[in-house]
Amino acid sequence: MRISDCGFNEILNKALVTGDLSREEIVFLLSLEDEADVKRLLETADAVRQACVGDDVYIRGLIEFSNMCARNCSYCGIRADNPDVHRYRMPIDEIIETAEHVVSKGIGTIVLQSGEDPWFTADRMREIIRGIKARADCAITLSIGERTYDEYKAMKEAGADRFLLRHETAVRSLYEKLHPDCSFDERQRCLNDLKSLGYQVGAGCMVGLPWQTVEDMAEDIVFVRDLNADMVGIGPFIPHPGTPLGDHPAGTLAQTLKMVALARIATRNGLLPATTAVGSIDPFGREKALKAGANVVMPNYTPLKYRVDYEIYPDKKCINEDPEQCHGCMQARILSTGRTIGTGPGHSLKHLR
Ligand code: SF4
Repeated sequence: MRISDCGFNEILNKALVTGDLSREEIVFLLSLEDEADVKRLLETADAVRQACVGDDVYIRGLIEFSNMCARNCSYCGIRADNPDVHRYRMPIDEIIETAEHVVSKGIGTIVLQSGEDPWFTADRMREIIRGIKARADCAITLSIGERTYDEYKAMKEAGADRFLLRHETAVRSLYEKLHPDCSFDERQRCLNDLKSLGYQVGAGCMVGLPWQTVEDMAEDIVFVRDLNADMVGIGPFIPHPGTPLGDHPAGTLAQTLKMVALARIATRNGLLPATTAVGSIDPFGREKALKAGANVVMPNYTPLKYRVDYEIYPDKKCINEDPEQCHGCMQARILSTGRTIGTGPGHSLKHLR
Protein backbone atom coordinates (compact mmCIF):
# COMPACT_ATOMS: atom_id res chain seq x y z
CA MET A 1 0.00 0.00 0.00
CA ARG A 2 1.50 3.33 -1.06
CA ILE A 3 0.50 6.39 0.89
CA SER A 4 2.00 9.86 0.46
CA ASP A 5 3.61 11.80 3.31
CA CYS A 6 0.47 13.88 3.42
CA GLY A 7 -1.64 10.69 3.71
CA PHE A 8 0.61 9.41 6.52
CA ASN A 9 0.07 12.63 8.46
CA GLU A 10 -3.68 12.32 7.99
CA ILE A 11 -3.72 8.72 9.23
CA LEU A 12 -1.65 9.59 12.30
CA ASN A 13 -3.95 12.52 13.01
CA LYS A 14 -6.97 10.24 12.79
CA ALA A 15 -5.20 7.76 15.08
CA LEU A 16 -4.64 10.53 17.59
CA VAL A 17 -8.10 12.08 17.50
CA THR A 18 -10.53 9.16 17.10
CA GLY A 19 -8.60 5.93 16.49
CA ASP A 20 -11.22 5.04 13.94
CA LEU A 21 -8.82 3.57 11.38
CA SER A 22 -9.83 1.37 8.47
CA ARG A 23 -8.31 -2.10 7.99
CA GLU A 24 -6.18 -0.71 5.16
CA GLU A 25 -4.86 2.08 7.34
CA ILE A 26 -4.02 -0.38 10.14
CA VAL A 27 -2.18 -2.61 7.64
CA PHE A 28 -0.29 0.44 6.40
CA LEU A 29 0.81 1.39 9.91
CA LEU A 30 1.79 -2.19 10.78
CA SER A 31 3.88 -2.31 7.60
CA LEU A 32 5.96 0.76 8.46
CA GLU A 33 9.67 -0.01 8.46
CA ASP A 34 11.42 3.34 8.34
CA GLU A 35 12.67 4.02 11.88
CA ALA A 36 11.49 7.62 11.94
CA ASP A 37 8.01 6.63 10.73
CA VAL A 38 7.71 3.88 13.35
CA LYS A 39 8.82 6.35 16.01
CA ARG A 40 6.00 8.70 15.00
CA LEU A 41 3.47 5.87 15.30
CA LEU A 42 4.69 4.88 18.78
CA GLU A 43 4.70 8.51 19.89
CA THR A 44 1.14 8.92 18.64
CA ALA A 45 0.06 5.89 20.69
CA ASP A 46 1.88 7.31 23.71
CA ALA A 47 -0.02 10.58 23.29
CA VAL A 48 -3.35 8.67 23.10
CA ARG A 49 -2.37 6.79 26.25
CA GLN A 50 -1.55 10.02 28.05
CA ALA A 51 -4.83 11.66 27.02
CA CYS A 52 -7.09 8.65 27.69
CA VAL A 53 -5.63 6.96 30.80
CA GLY A 54 -2.97 9.34 32.14
CA ASP A 55 0.47 8.47 33.48
CA ASP A 56 -0.41 5.81 36.04
CA VAL A 57 0.91 2.29 35.47
CA TYR A 58 -0.96 -0.40 37.39
CA ILE A 59 0.90 -3.33 38.92
CA ARG A 60 -1.02 -6.62 38.92
CA GLY A 61 0.19 -9.49 41.09
CA LEU A 62 0.30 -12.68 39.01
CA ILE A 63 -0.08 -16.07 40.69
CA GLU A 64 0.28 -19.09 38.39
CA PHE A 65 -1.50 -21.58 40.58
CA SER A 66 -1.59 -24.68 38.34
CA ASN A 67 0.34 -25.73 35.25
CA MET A 68 -1.97 -28.67 34.56
CA CYS A 69 -3.66 -28.26 31.20
CA ALA A 70 -6.06 -30.39 29.21
CA ARG A 71 -5.32 -28.54 25.97
CA ASN A 72 -2.68 -28.83 23.28
CA CYS A 73 -2.15 -25.37 21.85
CA SER A 74 0.66 -25.81 19.33
CA TYR A 75 2.81 -22.98 20.71
CA CYS A 76 2.54 -23.62 24.45
CA GLY A 77 5.23 -25.22 26.60
CA ILE A 78 2.77 -26.57 29.19
CA ARG A 79 0.45 -28.19 26.62
CA ALA A 80 -0.95 -31.53 27.76
CA ASP A 81 1.22 -33.60 25.44
CA ASN A 82 4.55 -32.19 26.64
CA PRO A 83 5.90 -35.02 28.81
CA ASP A 84 8.86 -32.98 30.07
CA VAL A 85 6.81 -30.66 32.26
CA HIS A 86 6.86 -31.20 36.00
CA ARG A 87 3.20 -30.60 36.87
CA TYR A 88 1.94 -28.83 39.98
CA ARG A 89 -1.21 -27.51 41.60
CA MET A 90 -0.90 -25.05 44.45
CA PRO A 91 -3.05 -25.99 47.46
CA ILE A 92 -6.06 -23.70 47.90
CA ASP A 93 -4.80 -22.37 51.26
CA GLU A 94 -1.45 -21.49 49.75
CA ILE A 95 -3.09 -19.62 46.86
CA ILE A 96 -5.10 -17.52 49.31
CA GLU A 97 -2.09 -16.87 51.56
CA THR A 98 0.06 -15.87 48.58
CA ALA A 99 -2.63 -13.46 47.38
CA GLU A 100 -2.92 -11.93 50.84
CA HIS A 101 0.84 -11.41 50.93
CA VAL A 102 0.84 -9.75 47.50
CA VAL A 103 -1.94 -7.36 48.50
CA SER A 104 0.01 -6.45 51.65
CA LYS A 105 2.67 -5.04 49.29
CA GLY A 106 0.18 -2.43 48.09
CA ILE A 107 -0.93 -4.26 44.95
CA GLY A 108 -4.62 -3.80 44.17
CA THR A 109 -5.28 -6.65 41.75
CA ILE A 110 -4.51 -10.36 41.95
CA VAL A 111 -4.35 -12.28 38.67
CA LEU A 112 -5.05 -15.99 39.15
CA GLN A 113 -3.70 -17.87 36.13
CA SER A 114 -3.58 -21.57 35.27
CA GLY A 115 -3.73 -23.98 32.41
CA GLU A 116 -7.17 -25.38 31.65
CA ASP A 117 -7.28 -27.51 34.77
CA PRO A 118 -10.62 -29.20 35.43
CA TRP A 119 -9.60 -30.03 39.03
CA PHE A 120 -10.22 -26.37 39.79
CA THR A 121 -13.98 -26.61 39.43
CA ALA A 122 -16.22 -23.56 39.75
CA ASP A 123 -16.83 -24.55 43.39
CA ARG A 124 -13.10 -24.65 44.15
CA MET A 125 -12.56 -21.36 42.34
CA ARG A 126 -15.39 -19.83 44.37
CA GLU A 127 -13.68 -20.99 47.56
CA ILE A 128 -10.45 -19.32 46.43
CA ILE A 129 -12.13 -16.09 45.30
CA ARG A 130 -14.15 -15.78 48.51
CA GLY A 131 -11.13 -16.66 50.64
CA ILE A 132 -9.04 -13.92 49.04
CA LYS A 133 -11.80 -11.32 49.18
CA ALA A 134 -12.41 -12.08 52.86
CA ARG A 135 -8.76 -11.48 53.73
CA ALA A 136 -7.59 -8.84 51.27
CA ASP A 137 -9.01 -5.68 49.73
CA CYS A 138 -8.32 -6.26 46.05
CA ALA A 139 -9.77 -6.90 42.62
CA ILE A 140 -9.47 -10.43 41.24
CA THR A 141 -8.71 -11.26 37.63
CA LEU A 142 -9.11 -14.84 36.45
CA SER A 143 -7.14 -16.34 33.59
CA ILE A 144 -8.18 -19.98 33.58
CA GLY A 145 -9.47 -20.59 30.09
CA GLU A 146 -12.73 -21.78 28.62
CA ARG A 147 -15.66 -22.61 30.93
CA THR A 148 -19.41 -22.85 30.65
CA TYR A 149 -21.69 -19.85 31.10
CA ASP A 150 -22.84 -21.21 34.47
CA GLU A 151 -19.27 -21.61 35.72
CA TYR A 152 -18.36 -18.08 34.67
CA LYS A 153 -21.53 -16.87 36.39
CA ALA A 154 -20.74 -18.69 39.63
CA MET A 155 -17.24 -17.22 39.76
CA LYS A 156 -18.53 -13.72 39.01
CA GLU A 157 -21.09 -14.00 41.80
CA ALA A 158 -18.31 -15.14 44.16
CA GLY A 159 -16.53 -11.85 43.55
CA ALA A 160 -14.30 -12.19 40.47
CA ASP A 161 -13.96 -8.82 38.75
CA ARG A 162 -12.11 -9.47 35.51
CA PHE A 163 -11.31 -12.30 33.14
CA LEU A 164 -8.43 -12.62 30.72
CA LEU A 165 -9.10 -14.88 27.76
CA ARG A 166 -6.85 -14.05 24.86
CA HIS A 167 -8.65 -14.47 21.56
CA GLU A 168 -5.19 -15.59 20.28
CA THR A 169 -6.01 -14.66 16.68
CA ALA A 170 -9.14 -13.25 15.09
CA VAL A 171 -8.59 -15.30 11.92
CA ARG A 172 -10.52 -18.57 12.03
CA SER A 173 -8.21 -20.57 9.73
CA LEU A 174 -5.11 -19.54 11.70
CA TYR A 175 -6.84 -20.23 15.01
CA GLU A 176 -7.71 -23.73 13.87
CA LYS A 177 -4.13 -24.43 12.74
CA LEU A 178 -2.78 -23.42 16.15
CA HIS A 179 -5.45 -25.08 18.28
CA PRO A 180 -6.10 -28.61 16.98
CA ASP A 181 -8.40 -29.46 19.89
CA CYS A 182 -10.25 -26.16 20.29
CA SER A 183 -13.06 -24.37 18.50
CA PHE A 184 -12.91 -20.80 17.24
CA ASP A 185 -16.66 -20.45 17.80
CA GLU A 186 -16.38 -21.70 21.37
CA ARG A 187 -13.68 -19.12 22.08
CA GLN A 188 -15.98 -16.38 20.81
CA ARG A 189 -18.86 -17.82 22.88
CA CYS A 190 -16.74 -17.60 26.02
CA LEU A 191 -15.76 -13.98 25.35
CA ASN A 192 -19.38 -13.03 24.70
CA ASP A 193 -20.56 -14.81 27.87
CA LEU A 194 -17.94 -13.04 29.95
CA LYS A 195 -19.05 -9.70 28.52
CA SER A 196 -22.72 -10.41 29.16
CA LEU A 197 -21.98 -11.41 32.77
CA GLY A 198 -20.40 -8.05 33.49
CA TYR A 199 -16.76 -9.09 33.77
CA GLN A 200 -14.09 -6.65 32.69
CA VAL A 201 -12.86 -8.70 29.75
CA GLY A 202 -9.34 -9.07 28.44
CA ALA A 203 -8.58 -10.37 24.96
CA GLY A 204 -5.21 -10.48 23.25
CA CYS A 205 -2.98 -12.16 20.74
CA MET A 206 0.52 -13.17 19.80
CA VAL A 207 2.61 -11.37 17.21
CA GLY A 208 4.77 -13.15 14.65
CA LEU A 209 2.99 -16.49 14.77
CA PRO A 210 3.80 -18.98 12.01
CA TRP A 211 1.59 -18.29 8.95
CA GLN A 212 0.38 -14.98 10.42
CA THR A 213 0.26 -12.08 7.95
CA VAL A 214 0.13 -8.37 8.59
CA GLU A 215 -3.49 -8.48 7.42
CA ASP A 216 -4.19 -11.09 10.12
CA MET A 217 -2.71 -8.77 12.75
CA ALA A 218 -4.91 -5.94 11.49
CA GLU A 219 -7.90 -8.25 12.09
CA ASP A 220 -6.76 -8.59 15.71
CA ILE A 221 -6.82 -4.83 16.13
CA VAL A 222 -10.29 -4.57 14.58
CA PHE A 223 -11.41 -7.47 16.79
CA VAL A 224 -10.40 -5.88 20.10
CA ARG A 225 -11.95 -2.59 18.99
CA ASP A 226 -15.26 -4.26 18.08
CA LEU A 227 -15.25 -6.27 21.32
CA ASN A 228 -14.62 -3.04 23.25
CA ALA A 229 -12.11 -5.08 25.24
CA ASP A 230 -11.28 -3.74 28.68
CA MET A 231 -7.81 -5.29 28.56
CA VAL A 232 -5.61 -6.38 25.64
CA GLY A 233 -2.53 -8.54 26.17
CA ILE A 234 -0.10 -8.55 23.25
CA GLY A 235 3.19 -10.40 23.23
CA PRO A 236 5.58 -11.86 20.67
CA PHE A 237 5.36 -15.51 19.67
CA ILE A 238 8.35 -17.25 21.29
CA PRO A 239 8.96 -20.81 20.05
CA HIS A 240 9.19 -23.50 22.72
CA PRO A 241 11.34 -26.51 21.75
CA GLY A 242 8.88 -28.93 23.35
CA THR A 243 6.08 -27.93 20.97
CA PRO A 244 5.19 -28.55 17.31
CA LEU A 245 6.12 -24.94 16.51
CA GLY A 246 9.52 -25.12 18.19
CA ASP A 247 11.46 -24.58 14.94
CA HIS A 248 9.66 -21.43 13.82
CA PRO A 249 11.23 -17.98 14.27
CA ALA A 250 10.06 -15.74 17.10
CA GLY A 251 8.02 -12.60 16.65
CA THR A 252 10.03 -9.39 16.67
CA LEU A 253 10.13 -6.56 19.16
CA ALA A 254 9.47 -4.02 16.40
CA GLN A 255 6.27 -5.69 15.23
CA THR A 256 5.09 -6.28 18.82
CA LEU A 257 5.52 -2.60 19.69
CA LYS A 258 3.57 -1.57 16.60
CA MET A 259 0.75 -3.90 17.66
CA VAL A 260 0.74 -2.49 21.21
CA ALA A 261 0.58 1.00 19.72
CA LEU A 262 -2.32 0.07 17.43
CA ALA A 263 -4.14 -1.59 20.34
CA ARG A 264 -3.84 1.64 22.31
CA ILE A 265 -5.04 3.71 19.38
CA ALA A 266 -7.98 1.35 18.80
CA THR A 267 -9.09 0.81 22.43
CA ARG A 268 -8.36 4.37 23.63
CA ASN A 269 -8.75 3.87 27.41
CA GLY A 270 -8.10 0.12 27.58
CA LEU A 271 -5.77 -1.56 30.07
CA LEU A 272 -2.72 -2.72 28.11
CA PRO A 273 0.00 -4.75 29.80
CA ALA A 274 3.66 -4.49 28.94
CA THR A 275 3.86 -8.27 28.84
CA THR A 276 6.49 -10.52 30.33
CA ALA A 277 6.94 -11.97 26.84
CA VAL A 278 8.03 -8.63 25.40
CA GLY A 279 10.43 -8.31 28.35
CA SER A 280 11.76 -11.75 27.50
CA ILE A 281 12.86 -10.88 23.95
CA ASP A 282 14.45 -7.55 24.91
CA PRO A 283 15.91 -6.54 28.30
CA PHE A 284 14.02 -3.26 28.11
CA GLY A 285 11.02 -4.61 26.21
CA ARG A 286 8.55 -3.72 28.94
CA GLU A 287 9.81 -0.15 29.21
CA LYS A 288 9.56 0.17 25.42
CA ALA A 289 5.99 -1.18 25.52
CA LEU A 290 5.11 1.33 28.24
CA LYS A 291 6.31 4.06 25.87
CA ALA A 292 4.21 2.62 23.02
CA GLY A 293 0.85 2.72 24.77
CA ALA A 294 0.93 0.15 27.60
CA ASN A 295 -0.19 1.07 31.14
CA VAL A 296 -0.10 -2.20 33.12
CA VAL A 297 2.63 -4.58 34.30
CA MET A 298 2.10 -8.03 35.76
CA PRO A 299 5.08 -9.14 37.87
CA ASN A 300 5.12 -12.77 38.86
CA TYR A 301 4.37 -13.58 42.51
CA THR A 302 4.09 -17.33 42.05
CA PRO A 303 6.18 -18.94 44.82
CA LEU A 304 9.63 -19.75 43.42
CA LYS A 305 9.27 -23.50 43.96
CA TYR A 306 6.49 -23.58 41.34
CA ARG A 307 7.44 -20.76 39.04
CA VAL A 308 10.12 -22.55 37.05
CA ASP A 309 7.53 -25.13 35.95
CA TYR A 310 5.19 -22.58 34.37
CA GLU A 311 7.31 -22.33 31.25
CA ILE A 312 4.87 -21.51 28.47
CA TYR A 313 7.87 -20.31 26.41
CA PRO A 314 11.63 -20.65 27.03
CA ASP A 315 13.85 -18.07 28.75
CA LYS A 316 10.81 -16.50 30.37
CA LYS A 317 11.74 -13.31 32.18
CA CYS A 318 11.84 -13.28 35.99
CA ILE A 319 11.45 -17.03 36.38
CA ASN A 320 14.13 -17.31 39.08
CA GLU A 321 13.86 -13.95 40.82
CA ASP A 322 12.68 -13.62 44.37
CA PRO A 323 9.20 -11.99 44.47
CA GLU A 324 10.47 -9.27 46.81
CA GLN A 325 13.18 -8.34 44.29
CA CYS A 326 10.63 -8.36 41.45
CA HIS A 327 8.48 -5.90 43.35
CA GLY A 328 11.25 -3.30 43.67
CA CYS A 329 12.57 -3.98 40.18
CA MET A 330 9.16 -3.43 38.60
CA GLN A 331 8.58 -0.18 40.46
CA ALA A 332 12.02 1.09 39.36
CA ARG A 333 11.30 0.16 35.75
CA ILE A 334 8.02 2.10 35.78
CA LEU A 335 9.59 5.18 37.36
CA SER A 336 12.48 5.05 34.85
CA THR A 337 9.98 5.75 32.07
CA GLY A 338 8.79 8.94 33.78
CA ARG A 339 5.47 7.40 34.74
CA THR A 340 3.70 7.08 38.09
CA ILE A 341 2.57 3.96 39.91
CA GLY A 342 -1.19 3.51 40.04
CA THR A 343 -2.87 2.79 43.36
CA GLY A 344 -6.09 0.93 44.13
CA PRO A 345 -7.68 -1.74 41.94
CA GLY A 346 -7.17 0.11 38.65
CA HIS A 347 -10.50 -0.93 37.17
CA SER A 348 -11.27 -0.54 33.50
CA LEU A 349 -12.43 2.98 32.67
CA LYS A 350 -14.78 1.46 30.08
CA HIS A 351 -16.46 -0.57 32.77
CA LEU A 352 -16.86 2.37 35.13
CA ARG A 353 -18.84 4.30 32.53
S1 SF4 B 1 -2.09 -21.83 25.95
FE1 SF4 B 1 -3.36 -22.18 27.79
S2 SF4 B 1 -4.91 -23.65 27.11
FE2 SF4 B 1 -3.28 -23.71 25.55
S3 SF4 B 1 -1.95 -25.40 26.21
FE3 SF4 B 1 -1.11 -23.51 27.13
S4 SF4 B 1 -1.98 -23.32 29.16
FE4 SF4 B 1 -3.19 -24.83 28.00
